[in-house]
Amino acid sequence: MPEDFSKAINGITISLHQGDITRENAEAIVNAANSSLMGGGGVDGAIHRAAGPALKEECKQIKAMQGPCAPGNAVITGGGNLKAQYVIHTVRPIWRGGVTNENQILSNAYRNSLQLAVENQIASVAFPSISTGAYGYPLAEAAAVAMAAVKAFIIQIDQGAALKQVRFVLFDDFTYQAYKEALAKL
Ligand code: ADP
Repeated sequence: MPEDFSKAINGITISLHQGDITRENAEAIVNAANSSLMGGGGVDGAIHRAAGPALKEECKQIKAMQGPCAPGNAVITGGGNLKAQYVIHTVRPIWRGGVTNENQILSNAYRNSLQLAVENQIASVAFPSISTGAYGYPLAEAAAVAMAAVKAFIIQIDQGAALKQVRFVLFDDFTYQAYKEALAKL
């Protein structure tokens, strides 16, 4: 397993870790959700299984109040049985060849997740590799969008913000290496 790799920008550390996000002890983990917020396959299913039924219940209540969540937007719930105190659910884009604004939606997903973290005084947040599994986003492009979005957010962050750590928890070595390349170029 590769060593963790990190870079600090504006007092905030961006770090990469290979592993399972459901075991992460960041204050908040981000879920690659869909508009229904009702769970699905991949990392979404894994997070819902590990968190237990409280997560779906909270998502149901949010959906009842707000309706379906639009791609690129994010909502926050408690963490249920997870170590993480919060789950930030962001609706990710489906890759359709790059002609349906996928990069903007993916970038918004990262930005809006970080914004929710800041609004909730969260110090550490962990992301999976959003959209690069079943949703088919090309890995190198998604990693570059992720890093650019995180950097753009943290260079303008209020100095009083609690946020100090942005982590990427990447399931496999191939994904880890793609994010390492993107972070190295940042
Ligand atoms: P998407 O539909 O957004 O592509 P997937 O869940 O299919 O979502 O895949 C997104 C990424 O999440 C992939 O790199 C996949 O390997 C990874 N992944 C799946 N399970 C986990 C997990 N428990 N922790 C971290 N990453 C995971």
